[in-house]
Amino acid sequence: MDFKEVLRAEKEYLIELRREFHKNPEKSWEEYRTSERIKEELDKIGVEYKSCAGTGVVAVIEGAKEGKTVALRADIDALELDEETELSFKSENKGLMHACGHDGHTAMLLTAARALVKTKDQLSGRVKLIFQPAEEMVAGAKELVKEGVLKDVEAILGIHLWSGLKTGKINVEAGPRMASGDYVMINFIGAGGHGSLPQQTVDPIAAASAFVMESQAVMSRESSPLDPVVFTIGKIDSGSRFNIIPSRAELEGTLRCFSEKSRTNASEAIERFANKIAAAYRAEAEVEIKEGTPPTVNDAEIAAYAQKAAAEIVGEDSIISMEKTTGSEDMAYYLNEIPGCLAFVGAGFEDDSKNFPHHHPEFNIDEDSLLIGASLYFNFAFNYLNQ
Ligand SMILES: [Zn+2]
Ligand SMILES: [Zn+2]
Repeated sequence: MDFKEVLRAEKEYLIELRREFHKNPEKSWEEYRTSERIKEELDKIGVEYKSCAGTGVVAVIEGAKEGKTVALRADIDALELDEETELSFKSENKGLMHACGHDGHTAMLLTAARALVKTKDQLSGRVKLIFQPAEEMVAGAKELVKEGVLKDVEAILGIHLWSGLKTGKINVEAGPRMASGDYVMINFIGAGGHGSLPQQTVDPIAAASAFVMESQAVMSRESSPLDPVVFTIGKIDSGSRFNIIPSRAELEGTLRCFSEKSRTNASEAIERFANKIAAAYRAEAEVEIKEGTPPTVNDAEIAAYAQKAAAEIVGEDSIISMEKTTGSEDMAYYLNEIPGCLAFVGAGFEDDSKNFPHHHPEFNIDEDSLLIGASLYFNFAFNYLNQ
């Protein structure tokens, strides 16, 4: 079977479907229309499915022969953003836009499903298709995992179209690819008073300021330069007037790490340091760290599989290495449970003036990337099951 031919026959369907999803973006947990359309497309090819985690859809394609189960994941949600492109299929939902490429992911997975159905006589095992809601809130994957979507699944592939990578290039490599994202809140509690009489007060602003500066030194001294950590305080809230020393100073920030080890170490360092700095200034500290997404770490064996499947599509030379990023992806929740990987499929135009970063109001993808992405979903699943 020439899998490229099977996929090429679906190119028009794929592009049309992506444009339709692009025109009708929906926000996280409210992907009602998208979810209905996915089900309609699955009905057309006789694939059984069920709803999961609200607007999620999980379908199964049974191969003719017994075998393993492999999962393919596409996220389906859009962003709260006004689209500023001139596309003929521009968003018709005001204030919402597919500015991350999830419209492409959804259309790619439905297209791969059609090709898998056409070739299921040659398939040993089953393919689980996961249409996941609420990735942009890094929440959907966690819910689906909780609902048991990975039960009996041996490996999983997720794809992200990537505007920073030219169409035709694919990146899929072992190890950490995206960072964890944890929320950090630190409250410095002092004793307020008159701004002219600091000796009668415990100044929480002085303690908080010291913490903001010194915490950067702690991160750099206590984490390996080869296992980077980002700790950013993005919000400071304190005081009501120029000549009053307040009684509280509240800081909020984000912690980004690429391994569970550095994540634990950094969290401990933040807590210890906040308390010690507070004590040095006669204040007290309350520290709260809410765990968000774990780091996205690709399994070496599955990444090698995906790499081989990708090379069969775009050629060995077009499989490139790419720097990991400090953004977060909830693909991490699946990868914490079973071996798998997240692949980045180039969707950047040759002409750089047409390329915008993800989440930008002028974001767009080169549609030639769609068939490559759909082919990767297909070829990975087919090869993995028939290995
Ligand atoms: Zn995004
Ligand atoms: Zn995304």
